[in-house]
Amino acid sequence: MSTDTTRKDADPVTTGTINPLALSVEERPGRGRGVFASAPIRAGTVLEVAPVLVLTKEQWEGGRMDDTVLGEYGFCWARGGMALGLGIASLFNHSSTPNVNFVRNFAAGTITFTTSRAVDTDEELCICYSADETKLWFLPNGERPRPATPSDDGDGLERLAALQLAPDDAEREAREDKERARETRRQAGGNTHSAKEARRAKWRAKQEKMRNGGNSEIVAPQPVAVASGSGLLSEPTSHRSQDSDRTVTSGSNTVFGQTETRADLPPPLHSDSNKLRSEVPAEVPPLLEWDEAGPSELPETQWGELRRARGPIEIEEEAEDDNSALIQVWALDASPGTLMKEVLDFTKKGVPLDERMRHLKRVRRITDEAGEERVLVALAMADTANEDELRALLSSYDERLGALPLVVVDTPRSAAKTTEQLAVRNTYWPVLYTPGVQRYSNARGFSGPKLAWVRAGIERVLADALAAKARGELPVAVYVTSPPESLYPQSDGFIPPTDGLRGAAADTRTSCDHPLRHGVLNAIASVARLRTVPPFSEITPSRNGADYLLTSMSLFVTHEPCVMCSMALLHSRVREVFFVFPRPRAGGFEGSFGVHSRRDLNHRFDAWRWTGPVDAEAYAIPDNVEI
Ligand SMILES: [Zn+2]
Repeated sequence: MSTDTTRKDADPVTTGTINPLALSVEERPGRGRGVFASAPIRAGTVLEVAPVLVLTKEQWEGGRMDDTVLGEYGFCWARGGMALGLGIASLFNHSSTPNVNFVRNFAAGTITFTTSRAVDTDEELCICYSADETKLWFLPNGERPRPATPSDDGDGLERLAALQLAPDDAEREAREDKERARETRRQAGGNTHSAKEARRAKWRAKQEKMRNGGNSEIVAPQPVAVASGSGLLSEPTSHRSQDSDRTVTSGSNTVFGQTETRADLPPPLHSDSNKLRSEVPAEVPPLLEWDEAGPSELPETQWGELRRARGPIEIEEEAEDDNSALIQVWALDASPGTLMKEVLDFTKKGVPLDERMRHLKRVRRITDEAGEERVLVALAMADTANEDELRALLSSYDERLGALPLVVVDTPRSAAKTTEQLAVRNTYWPVLYTPGVQRYSNARGFSGPKLAWVRAGIERVLADALAAKARGELPVAVYVTSPPESLYPQSDGFIPPTDGLRGAAADTRTSCDHPLRHGVLNAIASVARLRTVPPFSEITPSRNGADYLLTSMSLFVTHEPCVMCSMALLHSRVREVFFVFPRPRAGGFEGSFGVHSRRDLNHRFDAWRWTGPVDAEAYAIPDNVEI
């Protein structure tokens, strides 16, 4: 670095901008060095993913690091260690109302710093060292909480951004940190007179720093003033303005330690003044009107098309339908009659069966080029055993087996579900035939009447959604019913649905001013309500499983349901769902989790997306609203 021309006019402690976000490190009176924004920064912006140097507990304590200046810069780390953040990580000052959250990633050895709210130009970026400021080793300056207002990026989500839930290992680490800090405090006692004790107090505060600021707990308790009327929808409704006259005394609410009396929150769900019952009348909506000959008479472009929403199971099974998917297997090459009994005994007792080979028959008979009959016996997956190991295993079982040739053969990766698959796969290696339920990726398996009926259901919810929109709700509607008896599936396991049970609902989170009044939940609630009154309350379930809320019912909904609603459908044992508008960001089917079709959940249902001519604009809902 050339420094022959001294920059006398420059501020010696200002580094200028040091990263693409134009953050700068500056010294301010009374604050020491700190990190400042040179331009406005949006909430949720990652400021830095800082790599760290980790010192073990032994290294830190043995090196008496807390007696040095480094004692003020360490972040508590996994297993009692301490980490020094590189980059700007170590330069953030403390604030009891921080605008920056930080999350430790023990595995990656990084700390990620993210803005918890929008930050203005020249505002200092601060983290919270400790929620309990009596544990700090300096006097924090008297900042006032910055109230959240509806104009903070509109959706109020940044308040939630202050809540950071930990991965399991971090949570455990945090508990251990807590235990250690408690132990340290116990050992240190209350004496802080000596300089040494002061250092120890500082160490304890450091422990607190990560306990409260880490990703393991609620980060930085921030008193938040909740603006009246700030809801999921940006447009306040006329309903809300009337609400201010309502006197609800049960709305006392604790928000991050501050108690305030709220007049505009609905009462808790379990309270006596809960309106759920009156909101959900015990009414059976009209039967779906449909014409059996309906859309099947029309060209497909006019009535639309159905596509299966694929979940993890469908994706897996599609891979299984690929006849060219092969696995490599070790096989013993023997002539018929030669040691066959010994070889087969070995496959049963001498070598464990690999799960991946369950669909393979053990023996394949072939005729080689010389016209000789030979027998190949599958032994093990080629990727788990090498030839020497396998031969040693064979020899130790029976000397004669160790002398037979071993070959690697290509075999099908899965069993055959159709006779066509069986024919193809048997040319590689004989496999089991396990005909399953045939899944179609489109409506190929649907009859004309079934398509006509589905179309009628789709049209019904599309019309209902426009009516809901006209009432000021979100344009979401749901209709749930049993299929006509003529359309019952012909499978053995089909449980007949409860006769005459139907439900219809719209999304009412706007009019109810309640975040959980999603259309699907409302529809399920209406069916639940019906099941409590005659004639449905009188029905004895025909068989086990017949009395889940939506057993064997079909549900139509305008928009792909959110994960919460998808799970409610799963718990209710719905049989199939038809929707029109996918929700890539928050949908429970195609959007993210494939809730309808997972091996790790105990019920599966079909989800179909209808793609037909429809005015999508009329049903548009912002991406971040969950349906
Ligand atoms: Zn939902």
